[in-house]
Amino acid sequence: MSDYMFVLESHLDASQNRAVEEMKRIATEAGMNVWLAGGSLRDVLRGAAIRDLDFTVERDALKAGKALAAALGGRVVSEDALKRGIELELPGNTAASVSNARTEKYSRPGGKPQIAPATIHEDLLRRDFTINAMALALNRGSRGLLIDPGNGQADLLGKELRATNPYIFFDDPARIFRLIRFEHALGFQLAPRLRSQLENAMIEGYFAGAPATALACEIKALALDASAVPALEAYERMGLLKAISPALAGAKLNSAGLAKFEKLLHTVLPPGTPGGWLAFLSILTEKLSARERAEALKPFDLPKAEADGLKQLEASGKKLESTLKSARVTRPSHVYEALAGISTDVVLMVLYTSAQRVVQDRIRAYYQKYLGQAQEITEEQVVATGVKPGTPKFDKALKTMVAAHLNARPRKVPPPEPEVVPAPPMINGRPGRKPAQSNA
Ligand code: ATP
Ligand code: MG
Repeated sequence: MSDYMFVLESHLDASQNRAVEEMKRIATEAGMNVWLAGGSLRDVLRGAAIRDLDFTVERDALKAGKALAAALGGRVVSEDALKRGIELELPGNTAASVSNARTEKYSRPGGKPQIAPATIHEDLLRRDFTINAMALALNRGSRGLLIDPGNGQADLLGKELRATNPYIFFDDPARIFRLIRFEHALGFQLAPRLRSQLENAMIEGYFAGAPATALACEIKALALDASAVPALEAYERMGLLKAISPALAGAKLNSAGLAKFEKLLHTVLPPGTPGGWLAFLSILTEKLSARERAEALKPFDLPKAEADGLKQLEASGKKLESTLKSARVTRPSHVYEALAGISTDVVLMVLYTSAQRVVQDRIRAYYQKYLGQAQEITEEQVVATGVKPGTPKFDKALKTMVAAHLNARPRKVPPPEPEVVPAPPMINGRPGRKPAQSNA
């Protein structure tokens, strides 16, 4: 049997491991059980990067989530008082959610569910697909125990999507969107039974009853996947995009633009670079009139900071483009300083729109060369110059050292020394034959 705790710890990055450790401590102190569940466990077991940590607890998830954010210096992104779940942003670019083990009872597709506390087994079986319905116990008594009531492990191995129960689409039609997203992102097949469940759901038109905001969440979830365009095209073929907004559907779906965007995202930016969602949205709605765009964006319910960022994207992109092509930019450190601290969305927009070769090349050089070189300057090296971390002097010294490092030309390798051939001995005033080498 696998040692799942070992698999987990060796799979997570340092910030994710810290979050797991802290969650264990909070649960132990509160005397409650805690599991790592859902998509995060699925991705650990299939050896893929984890997008967000999904913790499930008995009792007060909101309190446990707030304690986790406070202990690690993170922040609460949203709270769902009905489902008793909380979304967090933790340091190290770590996203996490904490939710209560529960059952959900629906009286109509996409309606408001009746929630009741439940065991972890019941909780897992109210989820969508078996591969998302596993949990790993983190509490002291049963740490490392895998709970897998739908045999999701077999489906992970067989690369199959299977429903946890017959009512998944009736209960929550947004799961149709999730299904198509997972089918494309994971490259899994639909089990025959799930295919007929999907066909029935489409015939019954369940998705028409789903709130457009829940469906738009799924577009956000797939935006930065390598398989975003095929998944969006599948939504369009199935007539699902119009359930989010008619303005997005039909010929208005900007497949070619999004394909170009996805290629830039996955070839120029290092994997795991945070950001990019607003650039995706801007390109998704590129072909729409201002009125259609406003209409299409409504279901996405953007927080104010994102809505403002989206509005300013074009202007910020133009500014960055003109900085990057300016005659004043002559050295690597100038390119580095122009791009450091600029949001990924703005950079992606410039890559997407700029026809200037020099701009494209400088952005590529930043990600492929300068960013890594700048990270070679360590805090210790800066401290050795006599400045204290956290002070303006430190920042200035760091900037100067990074610039010097980036601008230093690689030392030329000295050319090989010419082989010194001994002059032949002079015989009678003329060069004689090379003396024969002795074999001794
Ligand atoms: P991703 O890798 O995109 O985060 P995910 O499956 O982890 O995918 P989340 O939104 O993070 O998706 O949800 C975490 C878990 O909560 C899921 O794996 C699943 O078990 C459950 N879940 C989320 N949304 C639904 C839903 N609409 N219906 C049923 N279960 C859901
Ligand atoms: Mg997840």
